[in-house]
This record gives sequence, structure tokens and C-alpha cells, in this order.
Amino acid sequence: TVKGTYARRIAWYDRGMGLELEQEPKMLAAIQRALDQREFVLYAQPKCNIRTGRIVGIEALVRWNHPEKGLVGPGEFVPFLERTGFIVYLDRYVWDMACGLLASWIAEGRHPIPVSVNVSRADVRAIDVADELERIVERHGIERRLLEVEITESAYAEDECVTHLVDDLQRRGFTVLMDDFGSGYSSLNMLKSIGVDTLKIDMGLLREDADDANRSEGILEAVTSMARLMDMPVIAEGVETAEQVEFLKRIGCDYAQGFYFYRPMPQSEFEALMETEGLIDYRGVLPRVVDD
Ligand code: C2E
Ligand code: MG
Ligand code: MG
Ligand code: MG
Repeated sequence: TVKGTYARRIAWYDRGMGLELEQEPKMLAAIQRALDQREFVLYAQPKCNIRTGRIVGIEALVRWNHPEKGLVGPGEFVPFLERTGFIVYLDRYVWDMACGLLASWIAEGRHPIPVSVNVSRADVRAIDVADELERIVERHGIERRLLEVEITESAYAEDECVTHLVDDLQRRGFTVLMDDFGSGYSSLNMLKSIGVDTLKIDMGLLREDADDANRSEGILEAVTSMARLMDMPVIAEGVETAEQVEFLKRIGCDYAQGFYFYRPMPQSEFEALMETEGLIDYRGVLPRVVDD
């Protein structure tokens, strides 16, 4: 079982859990049961072209549909799973669900759009992420370009091997996004050497307090222009206001993901949206947005 594999790595007792599962063995048992019972579900949050508002892809975000607590967000269990190494099991399951979703669209005759999944640092340490993703897309018969891989910035900072992973994934035909860029570890220099396909800017950079506002606007602008020079599209995360949209347009950021456009929503809700004429931009994320 999962527990048998990872029990020895577990070193903490986690107090802050909203789930009130006092001990780790309980938490692990609960998650194992939830995996068996298929209680984890995907929510979809669209990524949009800032200028047109059209949807270019979605991010698959996990939720725990808990029998008693209702819908539980990843903040309540992902950090715990990352610390214990147990995240590998959930993420494989999530990657599989994302490919299942794509396969169902294709089976139903819908025009598929790219779905991105998250890869955490613990995944990179524990398994061969590229082999695993390849197995999953093959099993579902999915084109690789349709599954996009978000690797969080903190993973790059620590591991030399992430550079190889990015190359490997790209060679196999996956698109790689750097997630949470600017949340604290990376440098512009790193960005250049790693060569991801797309950059996602952490929402923290859009949310500085008044004192720091000018400085983070400057940083955002610098990052965006540098990405542009490298023909790397930029997606701003956590965009909530019209002011932020205006600012991002001004500095040349082409894509955004945030409550201003859409909140994460259940699969069925997103599929209903897909029916709306003209809402999806099937060209996806482009290195440079051409004006429509
Ligand atoms: P992330 O990958 O950076 O995902 C974006 C998070 O920002 C999502 O939170 C999303 O709901 C939230 N968000 C998007 N737009 C806005 C906005 O305008 N305002 C605000 N305040 N928030 C916004 P969520 O779904 O709670 O996920 C949080 C984090 O949990 C994710 O950050 C990711 O690091 C992790 N996560 C989620 N699903 C998975 C998964 O399947 N596997 C792994 N390893 N991590 C996951
Ligand atoms: Mg992400
Ligand atoms: Mg590369
Ligand atoms: Mg992020």
C-alpha cells in the first residue's frame, strides 16, 4: 500500500489541518480511502487571452469531495502530501483524470483544448515524471500537446535534474509551463537556462502592498519583456480586477488566469461553457498574440 511505502518518511504531526485529522496515519488512511472511493475530482479554471477574453486552455485543479466536510480545497491536503511524499499517488490519479477528461471530449466529438496539470517537487524526486506522463497519455490515446505540465518554481530552484526533466518532456512532445514564477526562488537568469515553453507569473507579484507597488510593477514589466524577447508567452495568475487587466495589457502580458475571467468550476460547468459560440480560441497559447 501507499502507506507502507511512505510511512518511514513521515516525520511531522500537522496541526493546522482544517480536516481535523489529528494524526498523520489517520490523514494517510483517509486519503487512501478517498482515492479508492474516487472522492477526488477535477475543477477546471480557464486561461484566457487578455485582449479577447477567449479561452485558450484550462488548468486541472484537484478538490476533495469529502463525504462529511463537503468540497475541500488543495490547500488543506496538498502541502501535507508534498511533505510526506504521498503527493505522487494523488498526482498520478489527477494526471489520469485529466487525460480521461480529454479522452471523453474526443469520444463525444468535442474539439479538445489543452489541459494543464500540476507537478510538485516531491513528484520530481520520487518518480520519473516523463515516463509516467507518457504512460498515461498513451493509455488514453491522447495527443501529447493536449496535456500541459505545470512545474512549480520551487522545484527548479532546488534540483539540477529539473532542467533535464523539462528537456525530456519537451522532446517527448509535452508543453512545459513554469508555475508560480516570482514566488521567491528563481531568477531571470534561471528562466533563460531552463527554457520552459510558457511562464506563469505568481499572483503574489500582482498583490503587493502600496509601499511595494511600484517595485513589483517594475518587476512584472521586466519579466514580461524578457519573456517576450525569448518568445515565451506569459500567463498572469490571480487576476481579479479590471485595473490589473489594464496594467497587464499595457506591459504586454498576453494571457491571464483569474477570478476576473473565471473561477475554477466543475467539469460539467466547463463543458456547458464550451458550447458557447466563439468562446474558445482553438489556437491556444501563442508566442505572440496577433491582433484579431
Ligand atoms: P496553482 O497551481 O498556482 O493554481 C492556481 C491557484 O490559484 C488555484 O488555487 C486557483 O483557484 C487560484 N486562483 C486562480 N485565480 C485566482 C484569483 O483571481 N484570485 C485568487 N485569490 N486565487 C486564484 P487552488 O485550486 O486552491 O490550488 C492551490 C494550489 O494547490 C495550486 O496552485 C497548486 O500548487 C496546488 N494544486 C492544486 N491542484 C493540484 C494537484 O492536482 N496536484 C498538485 N501537486 N498540486 C495541486
Ligand atoms: Mg498550477
Ligand atoms: Mg528546453
Ligand atoms: Mg501557480
